[in-house]
Amino acid sequence: MFDILIVGGLIVDGTGNTPYQGDVAIAGGRIVAVGRIEGAEATLVIDAGGLAVSPGFIDMHSHSDLSLVSHPRASSSLVQGITTEVAGSCGWSLAPLKNETAASVLKELCLGLMGAVPPELAEAPDAGPGQAAGQEQAGGFEVAATGQEQVGGLQGAAAGQEQAGGLQGAAAGPAPARHPGLAWHSFGEYLTYLEKLGLGVNLYPIVGQSLIRAHVVGARRRMATPGEIEAQRALLEACLEEGARGLSTGRAYAPGGHASTEEVIALCRVVAARDGLYTSHIKDEGAGLIDAVAEAIRIGRESGVRVEISHHKAVGPANFGKVAETLTMMEEARNAGVDVTCDSYPYAFAQVFSMLEEIPGITPAQPVDEVRALLSQDDFRAKVTAEFVKASAEEHGPPGFFSRPESIMFISLGRDHDLEGQPLTSVFGPNPLGQAEPAPQPAVASGGAGASGAETSTGLSGGAGVTQGATGSTRPRPVPLEPARVRALVDKGLDFLLEQDLHVNLAAIMCEPDVETVLGHPQTMVGTDAFTIDRDLGERTPIHPRHFGTFPRVLGHYCRTRGLGDLATMIQKITGLPARKLRLAERGLLARGNWADVVVFDPATISDRATAKEPYLEPVGIKWVIVNGRVAAEDGKISDARAGMVLRR
Ligand SMILES: [Zn+2]
Repeated sequence: MFDILIVGGLIVDGTGNTPYQGDVAIAGGRIVAVGRIEGAEATLVIDAGGLAVSPGFIDMHSHSDLSLVSHPRASSSLVQGITTEVAGSCGWSLAPLKNETAASVLKELCLGLMGAVPPELAEAPDAGPGQAAGQEQAGGFEVAATGQEQVGGLQGAAAGQEQAGGLQGAAAGPAPARHPGLAWHSFGEYLTYLEKLGLGVNLYPIVGQSLIRAHVVGARRRMATPGEIEAQRALLEACLEEGARGLSTGRAYAPGGHASTEEVIALCRVVAARDGLYTSHIKDEGAGLIDAVAEAIRIGRESGVRVEISHHKAVGPANFGKVAETLTMMEEARNAGVDVTCDSYPYAFAQVFSMLEEIPGITPAQPVDEVRALLSQDDFRAKVTAEFVKASAEEHGPPGFFSRPESIMFISLGRDHDLEGQPLTSVFGPNPLGQAEPAPQPAVASGGAGASGAETSTGLSGGAGVTQGATGSTRPRPVPLEPARVRALVDKGLDFLLEQDLHVNLAAIMCEPDVETVLGHPQTMVGTDAFTIDRDLGERTPIHPRHFGTFPRVLGHYCRTRGLGDLATMIQKITGLPARKLRLAERGLLARGNWADVVVFDPATISDRATAKEPYLEPVGIKWVIVNGRVAAEDGKISDARAGMVLRR
């Protein structure tokens, strides 16, 4: 007697081998038989006639660790067939934390991504001054980006403890009272918290290097001392010991991006010693793409770590086509013994962000009427202008999208729908800031700064920025902007926002041929770059269609319609291949003894429906999703099983 028997499906087992007709039997959470199974009985019999049966899809790049705290059912992941998510990406994770900084760090990450603080944290008292002035969004990371580095958030981490030999910062003295909204400090405690919560999907946890560096060095842009590098290595070691499967960096983001290449190599040696994974949001996905990929490869070569380049792409028309070269670089590196691969999401535009939320002084919580009134006020406009001018004289400029308007497009607008899909230049002209040519490369990944090719995964306005010069390379200082010119742009921009009923969503652009070049490469895997959600986040928090559409789009549009690979190959790229890279020996293949993560879908109809304008539309064609032997979704309906596991090291 089996728990589940899947009968008469097309078995696409994840190896890339030719599919065949067969059955799959599941018991005790495991696959117990694959092939022809005669005369068996099961509690649940699934008729898979006309359907394909494959391993559960593995999302190689997600930020779900940030959202699972308040969206533990992982609905948007399960409806698209994802059963395992690699999370803790781009240098961000929710641990390790210190008491002094915990609340502001958590609020930064959660607010930046989801536009809302999880209910679990909403009641927590503020730890930093960032929240004092009603500036919910201005905690640690953002202030760090303004160059002041005077922050509640991560800066406080530096003050706390220079010698962070471990997570037990408080261990020396009497333990401070734990932060009320917070059930964890260490990476291990965080994983335990998630396990108790019960997750809809399996989580493959990675620790973010920004958290490690903030913990030891603080938010400042400076070289780490040899002692601080050792302290970071020790803290990383502790995180790996407690269950982290690897390390991620956001080379374009502060504070992690302040680290030199050598510092990252020193950390990656710790990861390599435990055969862990290193994933990287590289330094630059625009003009500096080639150098950024070269850095990631160098880190792999010199540390011996397995490298995964995240959401690989070339941003902006001037850079389209460069991915052919970067894929070749990775091939050559692999031939030379470096385990370097990449993942991508199947869309030609990056993180969707709201223009409104890029305006200093505007927060997601402000009522619409209040915002409308503010945007019209002369003194508010003067303040915004002053902010932008000041910013341009410091480390970074005004919102990066104004520096590279040809690389950003309108995703959706409140009124002028005919502008949707058009570049920002169509409204603001080719050089709205009046910069001297050539325009200085924006130094920071400011909000949605696809301009520099860097994608704000955290969506923080100006938040996670870091200078490219962090490694000591020379970079021209930004030229201060002319106030009158900036004021004219502010007037035009805010008028435009008002005309569009405050609804102006933007995204950095890639090109369709590049998407196919990257996705079609046999070694490329797939990552959503999304965070899982259980409910609508509201209009003020724009989301990308990849939250619901990624994997059905790969199998529908790119595999079936565009012929980017046959079904067996595509399934292998999203199951067996990532499982091997992740060292998940008991997942990724439909094989006897493996954990029963299984998707039953119709290869003739599987499709994404989510669009930039309607990102919440669920995909079609997925009939059953099984996680660890339990039904997680049936015809798009999420069960209460919460059968996911934290895949600790
Ligand atoms: Zn990223």
